[in-house]
Amino acid sequence: MSRISTDVAVIGGGVIGLAIALRLRADGREVVVIEPNEPGSGASYGNAGTIANYAVIPVGTPSILRNLFSLLVGANGPLSIRTSALPTLFPWLARFAYESLPHRYRENTRRIAELVSGAAAAWAEFAAQIGASELLSTKGCLYLYDTREAFSAAMTDIELRRGYGVDQEFLSGDEVLRLEPCLPPFEGGGLFFPGAISLSDPGEAMRRLSAAVRRAGVEFIQASAQEIERKSNGILITAAPFEICTRTAIISAGAHSQKLAAQIGDPVRLDTERGYHVEFDMAEPPIERPVCPTAHGFYLCPMQGRLRVAGLVELGGLTAPANPRLLQALAQNARRIFPEIGEPSRTWLGFRASMPDSVPVIRPSSGGRDVILAFGHGHVGLTLAPRTAQLVSAIVAA
Ligand SMILES: Cc1cc2nc3c(=O)[nH]c(=O)nc-3n(C[C@H](O)[C@H](O)[C@H](O)COP(=O)(O)OP(=O)(O)OC[C@H]3O[C@@H](n4cnc5c(N)ncnc54)[C@H](O)[C@@H]3O)c2cc1C
Repeated sequence: MSRISTDVAVIGGGVIGLAIALRLRADGREVVVIEPNEPGSGASYGNAGTIANYAVIPVGTPSILRNLFSLLVGANGPLSIRTSALPTLFPWLARFAYESLPHRYRENTRRIAELVSGAAAAWAEFAAQIGASELLSTKGCLYLYDTREAFSAAMTDIELRRGYGVDQEFLSGDEVLRLEPCLPPFEGGGLFFPGAISLSDPGEAMRRLSAAVRRAGVEFIQASAQEIERKSNGILITAAPFEICTRTAIISAGAHSQKLAAQIGDPVRLDTERGYHVEFDMAEPPIERPVCPTAHGFYLCPMQGRLRVAGLVELGGLTAPANPRLLQALAQNARRIFPEIGEPSRTWLGFRASMPDSVPVIRPSSGGRDVILAFGHGHVGLTLAPRTAQLVSAIVAA
């Protein structure tokens, strides 16, 4: 084993780990990132690209709880489950059901709102720092409702968002068409978030972030962390063929963080919400901004040279292959909106790191600040990367 000593070791080079590494390097720390794959090639690559400062509502809500059973058995719907994974998933699901109760949903909304407020400004600054400002679009995001009833059913969420100061504008069906003329009519109209921003190419943003991290002097160790333990002289991370001895370790391996957190004494209830995208190559995407037909659980995202259709939640662990039925359903739903788009040019499966309450874990380990947990960002990890880095920097400095 070759031995490496450092001040800070960041485990996982997704958007969260990379943003933390950049920030701690700017704070003057010696930093290494342990990452077995191309940095930024996990969930951080394939997402919908929205810097969703409006996304304060957790996945678990009273309405989801009422419909949980029908959602889960509707195999091609926005939420589905692999039945083979049910026994393993049961503790997570039981906690998710509890977190969906009205009082928990309100409390979780408050905690997420506290984190995402300011995300757009923080990302604008972050993008400038990593040389990715031109990848940011400031045209807002749009939710669409099939029917007036669907819109009315969303009123509780809308009121909650308003309470947290989220800028949102009601649009009639005609107003939606003035904003996005290529969309078909949506009888229930839309909800426009003018302050939201989005990335035209999350993969390219990750390449620039990773290059900025390297330029800042962070060393990348291409390996997978298998074990983390406290020793008398610091934290020892085994990542064969390396042993990394560090004063501070950050666990930011996204959906793969649970085992490492448990090894250091923090058995968190982390699981994964599997998510998908299909992409249709085209010179000019037919929409100007990310658009979410809310009934179907995905976003249509205009990206450089393509339309990305990203979303769905499949509960089913980290090892099962992509579900072709869900990929087909995603493509079919996209064709209902844009019948001419044809067959997808490529498909993708990724793993959101998800806590039952949708609130990320960003805190010192229970054994001390020598290990910091930074994972579980669910649907808003891209949005929260700069904020997470700032919080971790404050914990390290305390
Ligand atoms: C379909 C979909 C759409 C989404 N849309 C949005 C959106 O519009 N806006 C938004 O804010 N968020 C969105 N998200 C969520 C967002 O992509 C994630 O929350 C975010 O990318 C999480 O970043 P991460 O760094 O924690 O995880 P990842 O990007 O998955 O990175 C984790 C890294 O850890 C590495 N790793 C794993 N195990 C080990 C180990 N043992 N040792 C070392 N390294 C390890 C992996 O190789 C990986 O590179 C979406 C997610 C999906 C799936």
